[in-house]
Amino acid sequence: MGKHAQVIVVGAGPVGFLVALGLARCGIEVRVLEAESAIGESPRAAIYFPTTVKILDRLGLLEEACAIGLQANEFCYHVPEHGTRIAVDTRVGLAPDEPYPYNLHFGQHILAQLVMRHLQRLPNAQVCFNHRVVGLAQHSNGVDVTLDTPDGQTRMRSDWLVGADGARSAVRHLLDLPFEGHTWRRSAGACSARSRHPLRASSSAACPSGTPPGGATTKR
Ligand SMILES: Cc1cc2nc3c(=O)[nH]c(=O)nc-3n(C[C@H](O)[C@H](O)[C@H](O)COP(=O)(O)OP(=O)(O)OC[C@H]3O[C@@H](n4cnc5c(N)ncnc54)[C@H](O)[C@@H]3O)c2cc1C
Repeated sequence: MGKHAQVIVVGAGPVGFLVALGLARCGIEVRVLEAESAIGESPRAAIYFPTTVKILDRLGLLEEACAIGLQANEFCYHVPEHGTRIAVDTRVGLAPDEPYPYNLHFGQHILAQLVMRHLQRLPNAQVCFNHRVVGLAQHSNGVDVTLDTPDGQTRMRSDWLVGADGARSAVRHLLDLPFEGHTWRRSAGACSARSRHPLRASSSAACPSGTPPGGATTKR
């Protein structure tokens, strides 16, 4: 693959990797561009609900994901100010014939690593870390992408470009697109903690006062 790819995916998060894997499995030449030097490990998604589990199955990742993760039907919120514990049972509301009647618990970076391993086995897929998208120019039959890399600024061209570069998406800004929705007035803190104790799906979570509290037990 030279400076041209059929599809460029911006962002090596779970969304970018899953899109890239789906495209590459269809024989499309795909390149994932990631600004950072490795998959981000900040604590974020830990629970994947049946809709996501279904996608993992469609892409042939479910068996490995189940071996890595914890299958569970519960998680809980703690409200430290008044000691309230809100247990959520996700079986409530599931259709009786739901093929994936459970959630999978494991860290988002582990999901990204799993998908990346599968992607990198395909000859028509490439993952480029340290490639930060800083410019886009759309022309009649594709997109020119400007990138900051450790070796300086460079350009690539693709027929299509997928922006999967997260909530502060550079692609969205470069296309001057609005970010719909609303912003919570409270800010949230997130942390990961390791435990040597046996796992239970219904977890405890300690949260600083004033943050929306929640917690999930994962295997890793
Ligand atoms: C505390 C917390 C808990 C959460 N819990 C859950 C949960 O339990 N279940 C769930 O389903 N979801 C959860 N979410 C939401 C979930 O984390 C997001 O939906 C998910 O991260 C979106 O994935 P993504 O691949 O779109 O973006 P991201 O994971 O944000 O990945 C975007 C990638 O793009 C890269 N990037 C950014 N700018 C550029 C650029 N200019 N050029 C190249 N690359 C760039 C970034 O470095 C990053 O690697 C949680 C979120 C938070 C914050």
